[in-house]
Amino acid sequence: MKIYISTDMEGISGINMIEQVQIGSAPYEAARKLLCDDINVAIAGAYDGGATEVVVLDGHGGGQNLRLEMMDSRAKYETVKNTLEVMPSLDHTFGGLILVGCHAMAGTLNGFLDHTQSSASWFNFYVNGRKCGEIGQEGIYAGHFRVPVVMVTGDKAACKEGLEFFKGIEAVAVKEGLGRNRAKCLVPERAHEMIRESAARAVRRAKAGEFSPWALEPPIEIKLELYRSDYADPFETNPAVERLDARTVRKVIQSGREIFHW
Ligand SMILES: [Zn+2]
Repeated sequence: MKIYISTDMEGISGINMIEQVQIGSAPYEAARKLLCDDINVAIAGAYDGGATEVVVLDGHGGGQNLRLEMMDSRAKYETVKNTLEVMPSLDHTFGGLILVGCHAMAGTLNGFLDHTQSSASWFNFYVNGRKCGEIGQEGIYAGHFRVPVVMVTGDKAACKEGLEFFKGIEAVAVKEGLGRNRAKCLVPERAHEMIRESAARAVRRAKAGEFSPWALEPPIEIKLELYRSDYADPFETNPAVERLDARTVRKVIQSGREIFHW
């Protein structure tokens, strides 16, 4: 079974302050190893569980976070190609999507570094009227290819959100948010044991057919509420987007593949 692993940085074990996810800062450079370590154990677990091929998306901040010389040589690594090819290699031949290092959607209480796409401009995002963060959107994107989400790792709030969207998936909480900017962490070694065990279980369960993809039927309504009206102004030039009020825009899409495409 082929497994796709999409990764972010906020929900990586041992990361407990914002500077560690800010590209270019000194704490970020050191935190890249923490990112690589969590992903490597997820890959190892996936192979333990019977994966035949693993592709990893380096997703945080547009990519280039992974230090490839540190990465498991059995997997292959890619970055977002464009807003319609967010996970470029993902297609219907994959059997499961693992989300590593997740954060909760914008506005989540005690979600470590909670946000939805842009912490500077996105206030709320809705899919068919349901408030949705990045975890849900990734599941919708994969659902277009009939690939189910099988596992999530991140802080406690991200895991709770993952389980709300995708019942019964494997979830590994490597820390607990203390407000938005602090976290109570497990040591990476313990987190790694849990991630590896869960990834193996997730793949075994996927092979047993225990998960279903979230395949939304078109038309799908996406609605974006921005922080300020001037953030919504640029959408006016997009004929596919309808301005609902000063700071809310709406679009109807015809497949889950378009979920990140504005
Ligand atoms: Zn991120």
